[in-house]
Amino acid sequence: MDRIVPNSTKRITGAYGWITLPNGKPYNHKGIDLGFDLYDENKNIIFCNCYGVVEYLLDGLNKGDKTGGGWGNYVLVRHPNGMYSKYCHLRKGLPVHIGQEVDETNMLGVIGESGDTMGRHLHFEVQTNKSADSRIDPTPYLSEPIWKPEPQSNLKYRASTKEEGWGDWKNAGDTAGSVGFGYGIDLLQIDSIEPMKVQASIEDTGWVDFGEINKDTIIGIKGKAIECLLIDGNYTIRILARKWSNNTITDGKVTVGSVGEGIPIEAIKMVTGHTREPL
Ligand SMILES: [Zn+2]
Repeated sequence: MDRIVPNSTKRITGAYGWITLPNGKPYNHKGIDLGFDLYDENKNIIFCNCYGVVEYLLDGLNKGDKTGGGWGNYVLVRHPNGMYSKYCHLRKGLPVHIGQEVDETNMLGVIGESGDTMGRHLHFEVQTNKSADSRIDPTPYLSEPIWKPEPQSNLKYRASTKEEGWGDWKNAGDTAGSVGFGYGIDLLQIDSIEPMKVQASIEDTGWVDFGEINKDTIIGIKGKAIECLLIDGNYTIRILARKWSNNTITDGKVTVGSVGEGIPIEAIKMVTGHTREPL
């Protein structure tokens, strides 16, 4: 309770597992219910368990509306270890959006009674993967984070721009390249302890496969802007091309940038996968 509804004095009102409904029927309750505090609205504010990305949400539903399965207004968050947390029956008017990065400092909503409920409460679930079949007892996660960051590795990288040549080697989370000058990166070097394969889409050239790289590999062609990168490895990458991109990660493959639009990558920030990027 300290983590999800930190200000609440209310405790678990519905346990995980088989329960008996008011009509006497047995029901396998795949989450836990947390009580609503009648006396102080601030005590009903729900926070995310830990860092993740809002995978899906439903908003605008009232009490009794079974749209979307009866969860009412809810937020589903994907965490970096592949686990999910779900916060249901929230009051409508959610303060987050799909794709938003959130953590334990982000309010996800207020305890409500939207959807198929008999009264105001939070229904909280934890899944070990994307399938609802993977739901586990979420009770430990009222106080424990679902995911914790790993220490940063020795990832380093540096970028060259056509205009200014090579910049300094940067540490994970730092910006290499230039911000605000409209310069494009032409060359990139990455020093990583983890294996990594890189392809780059290059101005006037198209895709070039640099294979498995090491710290001596020069990615790019001198004087030609890198427009898009495809990196196969356990990395989260942000690039600046007009504006900072969102992280795009699919099964360890990251594609960042654009192809054929003539927009150079101006700057790049990298972190190893499963490590929260300093925002
Ligand atoms: Zn419930």
